[in-house]
Amino acid sequence: MTMQDDAYLKCINPQCGLEYTIKCINVQCENGHMLDVKYKNIPSDNLKEVFYERRNSQGNIFDESGVWRFRELLNFCQIDTENIKECSKYLVSLDGAEGRQSKPYQMSKVAKFVEISNECLLLQPEGYNPSGSFKDNGMATAVTHAKMIGAKKIVCASTGNTSASAGMFAANEGINCDVYIPAGQIAPGKLSQAYQFGAQILEVDGNFDDALKQSLEDVQNHDGYTVNSINPFRIEGQKTIPFRALEYLNWESPDWIVYPGGALGNTSSCGKALMELYEWGWIKKIPRIAVINSEGASTLSDLYNGKFEGEELRWNKGKPNTELISRYYDHLDKEGIRPKTKATAIQIGRPTNILKGLRALEFTNGIVTTVSDSEMLDGMSVVGLNGFDCEMASGATVVGIKKLINEGIIKKDDVIVGILTGRQKDAMLPVDYHSNPKNKFAKPPKN
Ligand SMILES: [Zn+2]
Repeated sequence: MTMQDDAYLKCINPQCGLEYTIKCINVQCENGHMLDVKYKNIPSDNLKEVFYERRNSQGNIFDESGVWRFRELLNFCQIDTENIKECSKYLVSLDGAEGRQSKPYQMSKVAKFVEISNECLLLQPEGYNPSGSFKDNGMATAVTHAKMIGAKKIVCASTGNTSASAGMFAANEGINCDVYIPAGQIAPGKLSQAYQFGAQILEVDGNFDDALKQSLEDVQNHDGYTVNSINPFRIEGQKTIPFRALEYLNWESPDWIVYPGGALGNTSSCGKALMELYEWGWIKKIPRIAVINSEGASTLSDLYNGKFEGEELRWNKGKPNTELISRYYDHLDKEGIRPKTKATAIQIGRPTNILKGLRALEFTNGIVTTVSDSEMLDGMSVVGLNGFDCEMASGATVVGIKKLINEGIIKKDDVIVGILTGRQKDAMLPVDYHSNPKNKFAKPPKN
């Protein structure tokens, strides 16, 4: 069944609400607001059975893929999703590997550490994606849209996971990839995957925000396709992270879904997924989202919790106080405050998706808190003791859950899904952690 004109783009600002065709490549409406991918059709919840059966994929990479297994819920290509030839023509996949190994696990040592029963805590490692992070979920859909509109080059600003994922997909599709970075500020090792996959690195004077701005301007002026999470199609693929968790729970909502907070693409996509599933009647209860910022990069926490000018920033039914955000950013500039954490994946001062993130928090009655670098290292390390590999930013999920349980915000019998966003790419972090006997889980070398 082909559903022509089912999918379109719509501005997220309800007072503006401009709409565009699905082949539009602008990442914002003409008034500078962000866009959503929208679907007119309501997918039947009989698809729950179809998704489950696809796990026995019988050699079909689109059923094997943890992203495209759910293709009816992100069918912006408006194809016949049961026609494999048509899927092959449109859908971009790393041979079905994106999202394939991601599902929730119980981790007893983590449960003990956060002081909750083992059955209540589920952690979903996204680090087993081909490029090593959750980014492959959204990159599969963004590059699918890039291919749909005939782009020959994808472009991102990134200091790590995004460039690795973009580079891998570009190499696989035989298209070019430009990666913008702030000159002189990035340890070359963080870009080793981008180099490996043949991406072109472009150095920009200034900070990460300047690199992103330059990349967006260059895409406007030349041909190229932006794959940072400002791109609404990235958000579509990232919806499959909560889809996989919910499917594991037989579509019975957990009480909480917990993410580290950086650019807030994950928060935004989880919120959009839950909004759609609830609207379609697929879920009856709305899980609460908890976002865990690093203390050193706490823009969302500061604004959401009223730590700047005493006002608690809210989506406010589509009328957020954006001037408060601007004044906060001016304050950061004026005081020379730069985001600072060893968890570089969430070292972000100006979260691109802050408005979509606020919308997600409002819909889910969400909360935001912060954790320190040393807490995150403990979180990362205790995940390792269960035989799972995760990056430092993912440790925020674990210690954020611990903090919220201690504060009584998460109840002892609540069901929690925590997302571990990526695998370890900084070889020295665990070595340094375990070499210092003062660290909680350290096992220093003996001689
Ligand atoms: Zn608009």
